[in-house]
Amino acid sequence: MKIFIENDACISCGLCVSMCPDIFRIGESGKSELKTDKFDNLESEIKNCVDACPVNAIKVQE
Ligand code: SF4
Repeated sequence: MKIFIENDACISCGLCVSMCPDIFRIGESGKSELKTDKFDNLESEIKNCVDACPVNAIKVQE
């Protein structure tokens, strides 16, 4: 599984960080970024974040 965050789309709302703090963090740019590339057993959490992002900035490639 690969995860991409579209920086230009992210509005820095912090929702993904609060929902999945093991995966996302707000970076120095103020936008969400990945804090890990290990996603084992986190698929359902990640899907919840994908669905919750208000601007669909989180993309998942299976
Ligand atoms: S939920 Fe979406 S818009 Fe909000 S910080 Fe995360 S990636 Fe950015």
